[in-house]
Amino acid sequence: MTEGFLLVLSAPSGCGKTTIVKKVMAELPGLVFSVSHTTRKPRPGEKNGRDYHFVNRAEFLEIADLAPSGFLEWAKVHGNLYGTSRQDVEQRLAKGFDVVLDIDVQGAALIRDNADSVSVFIAPPSLSELAKRLRGRGTETEESLRTRLAGAEKEMQEAGNYTYLIVNDDLDEAVEALKAIIIAERCRRRRDKDGLPAAVTS
Ligand code: ADP
Ligand code: 5GP
Repeated sequence: MTEGFLLVLSAPSGCGKTTIVKKVMAELPGLVFSVSHTTRKPRPGEKNGRDYHFVNRAEFLEIADLAPSGFLEWAKVHGNLYGTSRQDVEQRLAKGFDVVLDIDVQGAALIRDNADSVSVFIAPPSLSELAKRLRGRGTETEESLRTRLAGAEKEMQEAGNYTYLIVNDDLDEAVEALKAIIIAERCRRRRDKDGLPAAVTS
């Protein structure tokens, strides 16, 4: 069985990444979402174990400090800690799933340096549209909104380091673009080290 790949997705908060990922996962089989740990408080509607593993700072640092670290990567984002579970990811890759990591630009840089991955940066059509979407979502306080918008410009400077860029203007087009990337990557990886179709040589 071919091992799955890591699909790293980053976007400024409010850009539409969660919306796109949910649609793509509903339409393409073989994908699983890596549920991160975070010290952020749950938003209304968010469920522990589904959206995040919500933990306190001491619990988070205990996992981070294991040797090797229980996190494949972790970072402080908008004042909270977020981390990707190493065990969870490795088990699912071994089962042949492609694992979606919804992580910030710091975590994405760590994964790119340390693991075989495909990375996609999702950008908003403009900063004013981003502000509109973030406000429209209605989940952030004014302070959290300001922190997220201030971070957006800086995060977008990182877009050139990703394998692919998707501009989320029309939602359906963005969904199709992400599906196309995943399908193309699956085809690229279906060869063995000599370039032959894996099915022929195994
Ligand atoms: P993120 O996960 O990147 O923080 P969300 O997926 O929560 O962002 O989307 C933020 C808001 O923008 C949501 O209210 C969502 O419905 C809306 N949205 C997402 N994509 C689009 C789009 N292409 N056009 C208009 N609104 C969008
Ligand atoms: P939110 O609080 O809006 O859910 O997420 C804030 C930011 O944290 C987003 O950019 C999201 O991609 C990022 N994030 C979520 N989980 C992780 C993680 O495990 N590691 C890192 N580095 N960033 C994460």
